[in-house]
Amino acid sequence: MKKTHLKIYNTLTNQLEAFVPTNPKEISFYSCGPTVYDDAHIGNFRSFLAADLLRRWLESPLCTLINDPDSPNQFARTVTHVMNITDVGHMTEDTNADGGGEDKMELAARRIEQAKKSGTTPQNSGVDPAKPTEVAAYFEARFKQDAIDLGLKVAIEAQKDPSLMPKASEHIQGMKTVIEQLLSDGHAYAAGSPGARAIYFNTASFPTYGRLSGNTLDQLKGGAGGRVDDAQQSEKHNPADFLLWKEDKTHKMRWPSPTIPGLSDDEQWGEGYPGWHIECTAMALDRLVDGHLEGARANHAQIDLHSGGEDNIFPHHECEIAQSCCFTGNDSFAKHWFHPRFLKVEGQKMSKSKGTMYTLRDLTELKYDSATIRLELIKTHYRANADFSEQGLKESALRIKRWREMARRLQYAVEHDPHLIQYGALDSISDKIASAMSNDLNISAVLGAIDSASKKHSGKGKLDTEHIYQSTKLAESPYGWDRINELLSSNIASHRQLGVLHRIDHILGVIFRPIPKSQDTGIAIYQPGVTPSPEIESLLQQRADAKKAKDFAAADAIRDQLAAMGLSIMDKPKGQVEVGPLN
Ligand SMILES: [Zn+2]
Repeated sequence: MKKTHLKIYNTLTNQLEAFVPTNPKEISFYSCGPTVYDDAHIGNFRSFLAADLLRRWLESPLCTLINDPDSPNQFARTVTHVMNITDVGHMTEDTNADGGGEDKMELAARRIEQAKKSGTTPQNSGVDPAKPTEVAAYFEARFKQDAIDLGLKVAIEAQKDPSLMPKASEHIQGMKTVIEQLLSDGHAYAAGSPGARAIYFNTASFPTYGRLSGNTLDQLKGGAGGRVDDAQQSEKHNPADFLLWKEDKTHKMRWPSPTIPGLSDDEQWGEGYPGWHIECTAMALDRLVDGHLEGARANHAQIDLHSGGEDNIFPHHECEIAQSCCFTGNDSFAKHWFHPRFLKVEGQKMSKSKGTMYTLRDLTELKYDSATIRLELIKTHYRANADFSEQGLKESALRIKRWREMARRLQYAVEHDPHLIQYGALDSISDKIASAMSNDLNISAVLGAIDSASKKHSGKGKLDTEHIYQSTKLAESPYGWDRINELLSSNIASHRQLGVLHRIDHILGVIFRPIPKSQDTGIAIYQPGVTPSPEIESLLQQRADAKKAKDFAAADAIRDQLAAMGLSIMDKPKGQVEVGPLN
């Protein structure tokens, strides 16, 4: 069968094109990550998971590239995937390139303060709203936990190598290096009056500004719009020029300003903070290019792949391209730009006021496990507006259940009697999956192929489902490649198919995972993630006694006591009680 090499839509050229990395054995991939001023919502995660799916596909032995046409063996291609954490400089009005408005970290601090006053934040979160670094660290930890739960490989790897998820506040020096170079090359200029001066990127010095988004400089001249204050607007040479650094002694997070050429030591600026866009240039080139920033400039380097939500296209990515190209001297920053579309919820635009900006924690509270949420968020093509719904979640949960049943039957056969399964429903799907994924990540064809294989598997042979269920514990992660290859090269159908399924799940990440379980102690059912303790058990017993004696005030007081410990109590039919985390 003729191989189809990976083609993927490139926002930069507005067309489907072959993915041709500079070195197909070592692919560099940068994803714009979260601003940690709040919990990420499922729309953010949809975009991160689409990037994760692409990355996992690039690493799969099934994926071939036009300049790497032989199926690589599984160790022959690596993807270095970096995702930044924005913990400074991202302003609330990020739709204009200036970064007007309020720093998002300061906004978060204010919100936490309000939440503490009204008692809606768990008292033991320990965050001091007066300290933006504590606010950022709090949400960063929560983001990483969510990302790991959802199987985002970059977050899993960053546990061992934190440089894969760099923080903006730790790369201020790199940003200053780029800004100082842009200043001395005439790609940036200083403006404004002492105490409130700013460094802007000079868009007129980069004629292809606007290529990614289709916003030409002429169009932008007419209406840079937004709520950029007039003083700031008038000090710029061109309305499209964007902020690289702001001198501001009052900003909560601030650092010594870059060195301004032509000023004596006494005349140098007071402290300030970076604009938002500059961080991604500094971090991407530092982490993904040989020789870091210096090497990037010396070798006119570019990276292979860059992703972000569609709202990042303008101004953020446009600005990244301009400043990066002017710094490296290459006319391209990333060869390929990947932008998943927005997520809708129940057919509507996601909205905070309607309460549809769900976080992962909102959904796990509704008892959906992270594999189900992952599948629901990756099941629609990344360039379509996916519609997230409760019905969809239920279907995804069922789908995973069917796939796991197939996996369990295969594993049972391999472990107990390989010849129980004679049919090879999964044998032919690898080619189908390869050509579907190579065609701009056609995920629905992939899922359909696994569905029809699982249908062929159900209810066949002497395999008694209940017995298999009891005696087979599924692997909690896909097998390693040695084991997979051993299974794939077998002439026994059950072996081969189990190998196929594990190879597929390296891409999808939904079948072989730790399966969260509730614990029933007799006094209460504890949801996954909540550990029973003698103290909780005793309080629950006292509450049950109080209810029996119809002393509801005492029962409520115990509920409040448990809430203060971060626990929520739900009364179930037949007098059972369930204990879960308090959100
Ligand atoms: Zn970015």
